[in-house]
Amino acid sequence: MLPQELIRAKRDGKALPAEEIARFAAGIADNSISEGQIAAFAMAVFFKGMSRDECVALTCAMRDSGTVMDWQKAGIDRPVLDKHSTGGVGDNVSLMLGPMVAAAGGAVPMISGRGLGHTGGTLDKFESIPGYQAIPDQDTFTRVVKDVGCAIIGQTAALAPADQRFYATRDVTATVESVPLITASILSKKLAEGLDGLVMDVKCGNGAFASDEKFARELATSLVEVANGAGVHTSAILTDMNEPLASAAGNAVEVANAVRFLTGEARDPRLEYITIQLVAQMLLAGGLVATHSEGEKKAQSVLQSGAAADVFARMVSALGGPADFIERYADYLPAAPVILPVPAPKAGRVWGMDARGIGLAVIGLGGGRVRADQNIDHAVGFTALVGVGAPVEAGAPLAMVHARTDDDARRAIKAVQDVYTIGEKDDHFVPKPMIVARIDGDRR
Ligand code: URA
Repeated sequence: MLPQELIRAKRDGKALPAEEIARFAAGIADNSISEGQIAAFAMAVFFKGMSRDECVALTCAMRDSGTVMDWQKAGIDRPVLDKHSTGGVGDNVSLMLGPMVAAAGGAVPMISGRGLGHTGGTLDKFESIPGYQAIPDQDTFTRVVKDVGCAIIGQTAALAPADQRFYATRDVTATVESVPLITASILSKKLAEGLDGLVMDVKCGNGAFASDEKFARELATSLVEVANGAGVHTSAILTDMNEPLASAAGNAVEVANAVRFLTGEARDPRLEYITIQLVAQMLLAGGLVATHSEGEKKAQSVLQSGAAADVFARMVSALGGPADFIERYADYLPAAPVILPVPAPKAGRVWGMDARGIGLAVIGLGGGRVRADQNIDHAVGFTALVGVGAPVEAGAPLAMVHARTDDDARRAIKAVQDVYTIGEKDDHFVPKPMIVARIDGDRR
């Protein structure tokens, strides 16, 4: 079928055959399909949608447009597992989760992204570590996964190239917000990792890409059904993102928070709960435990024993970072020259906050991007963010700002004061559930 006929068929609401979708995706990767055709196809899907079978076909075709890793061939006999978060603020779960799953017997070849919009990116966080090679060659990546059990790196051009071109066109043609296209985009990259099991952390709330619960559920269901349809055991957890998950937001500050979590120096309770839930779900997906509660216990035990911290330390060192990073992280991570408290404007209780506003304030400090080609300041951000439900005194800190200049700090203080809603301390407060829903899937 000619590309224009395929576009016409989708425009008219017809179901597309899998082999024609595969041909179109291959054409995106080899440049035989024009940008105009990609845009028209994306808009047709945006309005007419895709059936699950069509979406599985598009996902598999985009996955197969580049390298698909084969871990068995590389001599890895552990279950190969990963997690994907749809993105949030103060979401540094991956930094602990990868090492925890590896310490519990899984292999985690995690390919992570940079910050998108107001949400942070795992890759940017790791680049705060001096010497850390975030985009190593394939042999190094394979060796680290094999020797250490976990390697967290950035996307290479060899991985799902059809998505790279497709996404770039969607981004400039108002066609990003389509559930089947988001599904195929996210999963094509994840499934190219050659996974046995995948857990999706679909964030929901004012700091999430999917702020609306209905949309988050629809996306989670699509991701679970399509990934299972493509043969990868996948489930999803919808988690609350109406406040930052960690008490830190930024890059180096989130790495420091993760190290303290792994060593037991300090663990933010919401972050700990969600991380344990996701790790348990991954261990279950990989057949490393028989029940979710066994997975939770295993996750706790690799933290208590120090095994997860040890994997993190070995991964950092194997990818070029300092060998004593865990012990001396504070000496190695870049520090901001100006560190100031954000005084609470009045006494009361934190009734809510706009997590997106915190993400935007990190960008305002230079810790995130306005344009994709921008450099970021890894040192800046926030620590000691007070969570929703906490009582506060007037003038007591709502957070600490880490800024490059006094002016930046002053702007950030105002921005943070504006995102907090402080109400009466004595009114009855009911915390929101951290897990909004769990979505399990059956592999075909
Ligand atoms: N993230 C992706 O990787 N792809 C999308 O389409 C949206 C978010």
